[in-house]
Amino acid sequence: MPRILPVPSPSPRCPAPRPARSVSFPAVTITFADLTTMRIGGPVGALHVATTTPDAVELLRSTDSAEEPLLVMGGGSNLVVGDVGWPGTVVKMASTEFEIVGDRLTVAAGVEWDTVVQTAVAEGLAGIETLSGIPGSAGGTPVQNVGAYGTLTSDVLESLSVYDRETGQVERWLPEQCGFGSHRQSVFKHSDRWVVLDVTMRLRRSGQSNPVNFPAVAQRLGIEVGGTAAPADVRETVIALRREKRMVLDPDDHDTWSVGSFFINPVLEEVPERARECPSQPDVKGTKLHAAWLIEHSGFRRGYGTDWGNGTVALSSRHTLALTNRGGATAADVMKFAAHIRDGVEARFDVRLNPECNLVNCSY
Ligand SMILES: Cc1cc2nc3c(=O)[nH]c(=O)nc-3n(C[C@H](O)[C@H](O)[C@H](O)COP(=O)(O)OP(=O)(O)OC[C@H]3O[C@@H](n4cnc5c(N)ncnc54)[C@H](O)[C@@H]3O)c2cc1C
Repeated sequence: MPRILPVPSPSPRCPAPRPARSVSFPAVTITFADLTTMRIGGPVGALHVATTTPDAVELLRSTDSAEEPLLVMGGGSNLVVGDVGWPGTVVKMASTEFEIVGDRLTVAAGVEWDTVVQTAVAEGLAGIETLSGIPGSAGGTPVQNVGAYGTLTSDVLESLSVYDRETGQVERWLPEQCGFGSHRQSVFKHSDRWVVLDVTMRLRRSGQSNPVNFPAVAQRLGIEVGGTAAPADVRETVIALRREKRMVLDPDDHDTWSVGSFFINPVLEEVPERARECPSQPDVKGTKLHAAWLIEHSGFRRGYGTDWGNGTVALSSRHTLALTNRGGATAADVMKFAAHIRDGVEARFDVRLNPECNLVNCSY
């Protein structure tokens, strides 16, 4: 029998259940600085919060038929919007439907991702424990095939439903339709045609995690690389490691005012001579280089930036790839700093870094 779980009780990372209808806010009172984890960006034209999947579909249909510019967002943890903001409609996916049937877990796009992991672990389902502590929504995870500590969204995704803005239809897709493959890529990342409405993951009912292939996690757990542990222990270990790297949101810590990794690990068909010493891995599209290594070896150490420009943007003191808002940064400040890092790396290694996050109405 299908089982509908209540949304787990509120915690600092788990907002209280919302009323089961969409909520609209008056224009210009809200900015993207209020809605994103980097806390930058200008005003929102009109914000609609979709608290159920049918509401989301209705809002998407009505916005498109009115031919208003539409921006869909989840938790705002991978989104950088310019200081001009978004003059059109923003639909924030906050749908809360959540269902477990056997070893399958189906969640609406708006459910907070870490609530999904927490609930799976509590319900005895293994497979996503290493994806603990990642901010954002469940619907955001297929967009860049979110991954951490050896697990990718595509490893567990069984299907998802999408709203097709061109046809106005809702469709159920298999993972092979999502365009996963090369590092952090999907069809959703390169087109705003499809909106993810829910995701279904196939997990395992087991007291043992998936094999832990990440040496730092295995070492903390006191197991061999490739060994297993209780999923709850893996989750706790991953969250502890992420906290040390400031990769768990903390409103009091500017090192976490970021979008996670700002730059993507570059995938190149041919690695330039000067970058041959950079650690690399094979990718379906060529060779994947280690962006953090390139940045550090171009002279940008962790924490770099507080003495540069107006000092409002800097590399995190614990994570080279995270560009952080030290307080009062504008999108223009972030773009200037990102260009500075990109140009420094290009001058040193002949490799151009591109953003991993989604830039809207801003560029560098
Ligand atoms: C501290 C920190 C740590 C992070 N660590 C990791 C990590 O370990 N691994 C990792 O992969 N990422 C990481 N990230 C990045 C981020 O958490 C993920 O990319 C997350 O999945 C983004 O989800 P979101 O709901 O916040 O998306 P948003 O930021 O709201 O949106 C991002 C993009 O996805 C689109 N989008 C959002 N929802 C939907 C939807 N339902 N349908 C279609 N398009 C949609 C938006 O239009 C936008 O283009 C981290 C970020 C932060 C701030």
